[in-house]
Amino acid sequence: MVTERSIDGAVVSDYIRVKKMPGFACTLCGDCCRNRMIPLYKEDVERLESAGYMDFYEPTTKMEFELTGAPYKMKLKEDGSCIFLEGNLCSVYELRPDTCRRYPFIIGEDFILVSLSCPGIKWDEEGNPEPYRKASERIASRIGTLIDDH
Ligand code: SF4
Ligand code: SF4
Repeated sequence: MVTERSIDGAVVSDYIRVKKMPGFACTLCGDCCRNRMIPLYKEDVERLESAGYMDFYEPTTKMEFELTGAPYKMKLKEDGSCIFLEGNLCSVYELRPDTCRRYPFIIGEDFILVSLSCPGIKWDEEGNPEPYRKASERIASRIGTLIDDH
């Protein structure tokens, strides 16, 4: 299990390892776009920059990098929400980072992690991990080494 950690009030990780993929139906609450460290990989930054978006990211701290393998993270507004959040909706949905595409899951070769703070998880149903696997690749390769270390 990856335990909950906070830096400056933002959730870095609140994932639990499970044996069976639960069901999921997003409630559009927008909570995953607020008060969170949103890891960004090089491809995420390039995708958004090539569409003309600038000044939306900053470097991760050493601990954030150790945990996620991401060199950057999304800038947050003063109220703690993602710079791209409008109301409860993402203003760059088609271009959103992999972190947002695979949330609330991280699917690895031999593990499934589920975010405990997502109200859309349906623990009494069974889901399909495949749609989340590709967007999980970067972080799963990093988390996988952390899991293997313990
Ligand atoms: S926290 Fe979960 S239910 Fe809420 S918007 Fe994010 S993915 Fe959807
Ligand atoms: S990029 Fe969009 S989906 Fe991702 S955290 Fe920001 S508002 Fe939410």
